[in-house]
Amino acid sequence: MNREIRRLLKQQEKALVRFAEQLRDGKVSEKQALARIRNYGRSPEQAWHQLEHAKRPKEENWQAKRWLDPQAKHCPDCLRLHTKGQWRAVNLVKPPGQACRCRTRCRCQIAYRRFVNGNILDQVTLAR
Ligand SMILES: [Zn+2]
Ligand SMILES: [Zn+2]
Repeated sequence: MNREIRRLLKQQEKALVRFAEQLRDGKVSEKQALARIRNYGRSPEQAWHQLEHAKRPKEENWQAKRWLDPQAKHCPDCLRLHTKGQWRAVNLVKPPGQACRCRTRCRCQIAYRRFVNGNILDQVTLAR
């Protein structure tokens, strides 16, 4: 990847985290945040996945697990990015459509969960 693109992606990720924080603090609606992310040229599915990812920071002990839709034909990126049935710290897992040339077309799925005092809370699977 060329350096200019990498720099741009970094900026976008920062903006994304900012939207997620504003969303959490009630300063923007989910709809507004999604609209802003889509302005960066992302598909609705990509924007949705990226926002859901940014809403779950590692500091709050979020983990993620990503897997392949068994019916779909996957791009090489997806095959590299699924977590092989393991839960990992959320910052080590890419949301579907990010760094992925199929841009979520293959319907990769992701689940999130949070640990509080050794208990698993808030486990959700995101699927569309
Ligand atoms: Zn893919
Ligand atoms: Zn995929």
